[in-house]
Amino acid sequence: MARDRRTFLKLSALAGGALALPGSTFASAQQAHPSRPAARTARMKLTFRPYTLELKHVFTIAVSSRTTTPVVLTEIAYGGLVGYGEASMPPYLGETQETAAAFLSKVDLSRYPDPLQLETILADIDALAPGNQAAKAAVDIALHDLAGKLMNRPWYDIWGFDKSHTPYTSFTIGIDTPDVVRQKVREAAEYKILKVKLGRDNDKEMIETIRSVTDKPITADANQGWTDKQKALDMIHWLKDRNVLFVEQPMPKDVVDDMAWVTERSPLPTIADEFCQRLPDVRRAYGVFSGINIKLMKSTGMREAHKMLLVARSLGMKVMLGCMTETSCAISAASHLSPMIDWADLDGAVLIKNDIFAGTTIVDGRIKLSDKPGIGVTKTTLSRT
Ligand code: MG
Repeated sequence: MARDRRTFLKLSALAGGALALPGSTFASAQQAHPSRPAARTARMKLTFRPYTLELKHVFTIAVSSRTTTPVVLTEIAYGGLVGYGEASMPPYLGETQETAAAFLSKVDLSRYPDPLQLETILADIDALAPGNQAAKAAVDIALHDLAGKLMNRPWYDIWGFDKSHTPYTSFTIGIDTPDVVRQKVREAAEYKILKVKLGRDNDKEMIETIRSVTDKPITADANQGWTDKQKALDMIHWLKDRNVLFVEQPMPKDVVDDMAWVTERSPLPTIADEFCQRLPDVRRAYGVFSGINIKLMKSTGMREAHKMLLVARSLGMKVMLGCMTETSCAISAASHLSPMIDWADLDGAVLIKNDIFAGTTIVDGRIKLSDKPGIGVTKTTLSRT
């Protein structure tokens, strides 16, 4: 067997690392990589394709309604391994499948000899063009998946996090008629915390409708919907009396002084979402909000999200981890940060009908990380049909 493996490694090196042992298990392919002898001559190859997520319910927030979410799925092949990634692009954020394809076409990973040089590679990719956070995340996630597979370790383990410390995730109840809201709350029986989208003229009705069905804790997301600081503060007091845990982005993202005024007086933590996109925004949010909401599609992926988490923690800020509607690929990638956060809102994959990955799951409302290396996902049967 040892000779077979040496022969395989030699052949694999000649083939640019693209061979796999016939009938070999994933684990045996992994064993060839810790010192990466065969991979030294391999080159990374990025491919991508569009995919449309179908939502189980019409999804309404303060600024829009929709039934689908466009995504782009990425793969980075290297030395017989494949890393998976994803860009999710809800229309209101400005990226599309076309802009992602245009950005990804500029990415040339073949010039990097070592996939583990994440800092160098991802800094170069970030510098290719401004914006494009979701497209950048699609490369970042696939590269982290590949790097974790090369190290044969999942990312929570590489980062030194304890997987037994994962939190419960909230389940989002979109804005809807009282009957549909009550139905959605009943369907969410598994979840211990509900998330409610506010910021329209029926905010109190939404909360009271939910409270007519359950006493579960609620997290509220105003999506910038409240424009008057005194009204925002009054609303937060009203929400506190109804077992709401915190309020996400109460006021428009360009309102800073009034937001700091609200936070100073707020009986509940205030969390920056639209205000806080990337690493420099964490420092900007300090003193204006109580905490930040980290999302891979804003942060350009796992590398910067991890830094945002550590910076926010060092500033004594609260941290929540959020998502767009995404497959279990991007949700699993984000979930590796979850042992170190206060609150999770990682229900994006359970809101869709056509997930094509299996990885991190939600068990009795709590995030359960996969032990598989990288971001811990596998493609499901649906992905091959
Ligand atoms: Mg939000």
